[in-house]
Amino acid sequence: MITCDECEGECCKVLVVEIETPESKDDFEDIKWYLYHPGVSVYIDTDNAWNVQFDTKCKYLDKNGKCLIYDKRPPVCRKAEVRECHVNKEEIKEFFKSVEEYEGWLKRNKKL
Ligand code: SF4
Ligand code: SF4
Repeated sequence: MITCDECEGECCKVLVVEIETPESKDDFEDIKWYLYHPGVSVYIDTDNAWNVQFDTKCKYLDKNGKCLIYDKRPPVCRKAEVRECHVNKEEIKEFFKSVEEYEGWLKRNKKL
């Protein structure tokens, strides 16, 4: 397992928001909108939850990968479990970095 000391704060370099699971044709089409934005990806995790990932570093992460407000960091950061974090857990089933990758998946899975 990778420890936080070995890692350079990878979890502080992205912001991930779970979204509703798409069901209708319009829902699947709407997912493309996220992918039109550079630095935004969409992934399906191993629990089949859909997530949007924004590649944006927290302003309190210093150049050595340490939190500058460690004692005052918010609950979302306190609750992060190193064993469950994205460098230690294979939590991603499908990862879409571009509309083309997503459209390929839609076609293969006959979603549209
Ligand atoms: S919780 Fe995981 S991703 Fe975050 S700093 Fe620790 S090892 Fe790195
Ligand atoms: S507040 Fe600290 S622990 Fe939370 S994301 Fe920012 S740098 Fe990381």
